Amino acid sequence: MTALIELKNVTRFHRLGDETIVALNSVDLTINSGEMVAIIGASGSGKSTLMNILGCLDQPNSGSYRVDGQETAKLSLDKLASLRREHFGFIFQRYHLMADLSAAGNVEIPAIYAGIDPAVRRERSHALLGKLGLGDRIQNRPSQLSGGQQQRVSIARALMNGGHVILADEPTGALDSKSGETVLRILRELHRDGHTVIIVTHDAKIAEHADRIIEIFDGRIIADKRNAGADTSTTDIKKSGASTNAAPSLWYRVKEAVAMAYRALTAHPIRTLLTMLGIIIGVAAVVVVVGLGEGSKQKVLNQVNDLGASTIGVYPGSDWGDERASRIRTLLPEDADALSAQPYVDSVSPVISTSTTVRMDNVLLNTEVNGVGESYFQVNNLKLGRGRFFDNRDIESRLQVALIDDNTKRRLFREGVDPIGKVIMVQKLPLVITGVLAPRRSSDGSRSLQIYIPYTAMLSRLSGQASSLTGLTIRVSDRIDTRFAEGAIVNLLTRRHGLKDFFIFNSDQLRKTFENTSRSMSMLITSVAAIALVVGGIGVMNIMLVTVTERIKEIGLRMAVGARRMDIMLQFQLEAVVICIVGAVFGLCLALAIGAAMGSAEGDYPMIFTSASIIVATASAIAVGLVFGYLPARSAAQLTPVDALTRE
Ligand code: ADP
Ligand code: MG
Repeated sequence: MTALIELKNVTRFHRLGDETIVALNSVDLTINSGEMVAIIGASGSGKSTLMNILGCLDQPNSGSYRVDGQETAKLSLDKLASLRREHFGFIFQRYHLMADLSAAGNVEIPAIYAGIDPAVRRERSHALLGKLGLGDRIQNRPSQLSGGQQQRVSIARALMNGGHVILADEPTGALDSKSGETVLRILRELHRDGHTVIIVTHDAKIAEHADRIIEIFDGRIIADKRNAGADTSTTDIKKSGASTNAAPSLWYRVKEAVAMAYRALTAHPIRTLLTMLGIIIGVAAVVVVVGLGEGSKQKVLNQVNDLGASTIGVYPGSDWGDERASRIRTLLPEDADALSAQPYVDSVSPVISTSTTVRMDNVLLNTEVNGVGESYFQVNNLKLGRGRFFDNRDIESRLQVALIDDNTKRRLFREGVDPIGKVIMVQKLPLVITGVLAPRRSSDGSRSLQIYIPYTAMLSRLSGQASSLTGLTIRVSDRIDTRFAEGAIVNLLTRRHGLKDFFIFNSDQLRKTFENTSRSMSMLITSVAAIALVVGGIGVMNIMLVTVTERIKEIGLRMAVGARRMDIMLQFQLEAVVICIVGAVFGLCLALAIGAAMGSAEGDYPMIFTSASIIVATASAIAVGLVFGYLPARSAAQLTPVDALTRE
């Protein structure tokens, strides 16, 4: 029969600056299955060091330690974790229970890392607690339990995965004598049931309960005696077959890690909220800024689209605002005729505009009066609200008709009055209203008051009107490149006028220029918002690093009961990701609230939330959680169990 535990020439020392403290000095020790052993010695003699090495929480600097014939120095970290999980059950002087979990929750922890089904887990933890006399304390938190009860919870935890070897370091050290005796009685019963029990104590009276007493002094074993008086009867324990060494599925581990993250985060709601704040603000900033950019882009695009597609405008002068423009008299209706004969031109409308007073009964209104051709409305994308447009014959016969826009209608007529057929006076010219234009989409155009009459009527009948035009609007034929048409128009008109005394305005160009600038603008503002997210992520990382230091005992305990490095990594990484996802959801709500408060897409601050911006913001929040959670998670996973458990 191979010995269960076999130490050969094991030495463990600590270096503190120049000094070397030898905690264990060439220790040889063999313990067989089913023994009940007490390790006794003064404080500082090396008992805990020995215990930590036996439990694979710590590793010797030299020598060999075999468990069930396996050399532990050759095992990987995950293999050692599995050994702790499947073989050993730890009982600590200070219990090491998690304050946020119920008694049952604490007992179940080792089973989580063994991948045991939640229902089975619950059943087993309840049964163990019942057997240890805590059947009515299952849902209590550690703070609601006495020391003796807490130690019994930790015994149940040690037995959760089988606990073939029970390692108890000063299990009664923090208990009153009565609770201490209960704990010792339980340990003796476990021994009788076949568990190997190893107790560390500085108290000779407690050691009397064991059937073998090993005395340690200054890191060396100085005595190893059988205790004749002790009860040595034992039954052969069957190795626990329920759990396996294989890692549970990723889905199981993620599910458990998310549940842990949820408990950790709800345990300190205010701190969690403050940690999230950076992410909340970051995500809200991204979504609002992108929404604003998208909204104002749409608003301007609507205005550009109202100018009409593939329209080319020709105006006298060198550019908008040229003060000589009013004196240039070369742009004539004949130019319009010449242009409309060109194959690349679909239609042309001359425009003569003047600002003048209009009278309807006794209402006087200063409006813009435009003499236009019949194609003007189509070219400029103007829609009819009611009535009719004027046609070619109206133009030719210089008919005294007028179309008014929606604003003018509202200023001249009372609500409910039909303006069609009514006569308005422009200067001394009576005009019959034949139509009212539909309101425009863009708010900009809707502020002016516009009246449209046939340009022929304007030229011949309105006094003081010269024969030259204030502009030409040209619609280019379909399938003709606007840029080509523009060149041809410039050539034709320059030839007719003898010089280039006009300029061209192209709505396509405007649209393209605008789209380019708005693209670079939105990239700029998005990157500024992204910086807010990164700053939020750094905040998360900061708090997570503090959390890891604060919860170092929890990490140690989890490792002691068999958590793999990957499990610890996953737990803290997911905690960061959960913070970021919940923060992103709050941030989205905040953004939507801001959007609702700032008004509609038509208002002064138009905001359009695209699903793309919402998805991108959430995805970047998750990415922030992964990136900035990595460092804290790794620093947690790289701790050694003994370091984490004993660090102050
Ligand atoms: P016991 O449990 O018997 O009181 P320990 O095994 O805890 O003793 O410690 C044995 C010796 O090793 C002590 O002198 C202690 O100061 C030293 N020691 C233990 N752990 C460390 C450590 N991490 N760093 C430095 N010295 C340590
Ligand atoms: Mg100790």
